[in-house]
Amino acid sequence: MYRLSNRYLKIALFISAIFFSFAYAQTSSLQKDPAGVLLSPIKVSANTYFVQGLPEMGTSENENFISNAGFVITPKGVVVIDALGSPVLAQKLIKEISKLTSQKIIAVIVTHYHADHVYGLQEFKKIGAKIYAQNAGRDYLSSETAKQRLISSRIDFAPWVNANTQLIPADIWVDKQYKLSFGGVQFFINRVGPAHAPEDLMVYIPSEKVLFAGDLVFRGRIPFVGNADSKGWLNALGEIEKLHPKVIIPGHGSHSINPAEDVAFTRDYLRYLRESMSKAAINLDPFEEAYLQTDWSEYDGMPLFRAANRMNAYNVYLSIQAE
Ligand SMILES: [Zn+2]
Repeated sequence: MYRLSNRYLKIALFISAIFFSFAYAQTSSLQKDPAGVLLSPIKVSANTYFVQGLPEMGTSENENFISNAGFVITPKGVVVIDALGSPVLAQKLIKEISKLTSQKIIAVIVTHYHADHVYGLQEFKKIGAKIYAQNAGRDYLSSETAKQRLISSRIDFAPWVNANTQLIPADIWVDKQYKLSFGGVQFFINRVGPAHAPEDLMVYIPSEKVLFAGDLVFRGRIPFVGNADSKGWLNALGEIEKLHPKVIIPGHGSHSINPAEDVAFTRDYLRYLRESMSKAAINLDPFEEAYLQTDWSEYDGMPLFRAANRMNAYNVYLSIQAE
């Protein structure tokens, strides 16, 4: 009897050893790359690339890689658009750029001063790139909101955003339409805020027919409306259409090769928020009721619906009351 159970025990141990080594192999194959989040530039035209952030909320695990950044290689240097959500990501982007060209990074254009697009700026500053941003960004940099956001980001995205992470002002504040030219490649900087943010700008490169739209156009996820001016945002979408870009690189999500359709998606979403909230906002009916009565079926299957939609609707409800 003892022998028999001993034999069973051995078999059981053998089976569980196989099971655990299999389970371990499964989990270890899910381990992340030791270098952490990997950035792989996507080419969208002759000289323009971008890296695509993940469609999720920022965390320590994803190094706050939730927004896109792009770059254009010109014969006189590389122009980067947006700086990603942590210094480590910016370092990785600089490395990826150096694999594609020996040109130096000479400029960074900031589409807006939201944390996920600017916490990498200091790395570009270190290597001597000139930073361009819209002049309303100065108000953000001196605001309590910016200060508090950085304090909480140092906790939320530790160790990637830490005591050494700083908010970096622009070297050149853009207050109107602005043209830059490097090695014959032109960059049209269009001031469009307040729209998604007070300090929005977009960058159009006519020779590439590419528009960097910042967070004015969203694809494949619920837009982040935050403290947006939804009316100004709808006007900015009209400005985008006038440029007739072939490709739009948004601040989040994959690039658009059908700009008209994607501009329409963002516009429809903003209009729908305004339509569904305006009656309650004007009549001072409770937000909660208006939100529950709205049919969200067209959007509730999209990434970040749970994280963003209710907040977006509430913001629009408040902003209509303020109009
Ligand atoms: Zn963003």
